[in-house]
Amino acid sequence: MTNSKPEGDDGIFANGLDHYLAVRDGRRAPRFVESRLAGLLDRKIQMADRMLDACDLCPHHCLVNRNAGERGFCGVTDRTAVHWEGVLHGEEIELGASHEVFFSGCTMRCAFCFAHAHITRPMSGLPMAPEELANCVDKRRAQGASNVNLVGGEPIVHLANILKMLRDVTRPSPVVWNSNLYATEDTMALLEGVVDLYLGDIHFGNEECAAKLGRIPDYLPSVHAAFQTAARSGASVIIRHLVMPGHLECCARPAMEWAARELPDTPFHLMFQYLPEFRTLGDPVMGRALSLPEIARAEELAREIGVRRYQEAEFASPPMPETEGGVGETVDILIHEDGRVSFTRLTGDLLPVAAALNAGDERVSMRMGRS
Ligand code: SF4
Repeated sequence: MTNSKPEGDDGIFANGLDHYLAVRDGRRAPRFVESRLAGLLDRKIQMADRMLDACDLCPHHCLVNRNAGERGFCGVTDRTAVHWEGVLHGEEIELGASHEVFFSGCTMRCAFCFAHAHITRPMSGLPMAPEELANCVDKRRAQGASNVNLVGGEPIVHLANILKMLRDVTRPSPVVWNSNLYATEDTMALLEGVVDLYLGDIHFGNEECAAKLGRIPDYLPSVHAAFQTAARSGASVIIRHLVMPGHLECCARPAMEWAARELPDTPFHLMFQYLPEFRTLGDPVMGRALSLPEIARAEELAREIGVRRYQEAEFASPPMPETEGGVGETVDILIHEDGRVSFTRLTGDLLPVAAALNAGDERVSMRMGRS
């Protein structure tokens, strides 16, 4: 993978998204189109369907028969429900107008999950058959979406129906797999030749935090192996890490050290938009946003470790297409049940709004000072 611009003095690269950009700009077909033409996609669908008979899609290894209505840790049967879909600014600037599909159900129970209502009630939202999903993807593509961005919960849980959806779409979009990558080798093999860009999270840096905060076993070997497979697949990859208060040394540091050592050419997106949610509300360690010293220390760690930082163009907003209302409204502002307001992407246009809503937020002040 080559960089689109040389490394700057601060060790920050613009991106390393050659494959994805080639697909997005029409110089290459989405990978699933080639797999579909070669008959590979149909074989993958058969295999994914069979895996649901004794589900082993993720390292929970539940082995329940989801085709017969049984439920494992994720709580999802062979059906798929979507709790939101529409066109948003992707969190990475290259995603532009991204058709984000938020599936219900997840393989983790992250203590700070903003979508916890749809994780703990995994069939909440709108039930959608693969052909309905395909129609929806076609509609958003026609409206100007530059990709289909499969988010959760966790898309891995819905692999069979997502592959069927791709079989049925008529306006192929680049496929963005926006995932925790807590997946088995067989699952990752089914994604090869399907995904154009993996946006994968390394949430935790050790098994204790993974078990306590995410309620998952065998985290690091699984997620590391999945990233290695993704990086070998020929698709573009971005590693994300959401920095959590009080977890710089135990989680952020080992996540960056692993990435710098094992995948030195893969962009690493260090993210600072953590907000307490779900089980962290009121928590003495995690019940607050990051402080400025914590953000500065995370950036310092990244420089010391030498991880290849992804850096978005913070204040550039790509043009957004006009979309219809309903579940597909374009939104950038989230109003939480307890009245808090947060931004899915804090663009330059929205900075004054954020500052007016919370004049004391030092992260907003810092960005105002840089704009
Ligand atoms: S996807 Fe994972 S959590 Fe869900 S049933 Fe299968 S193995 Fe269990």
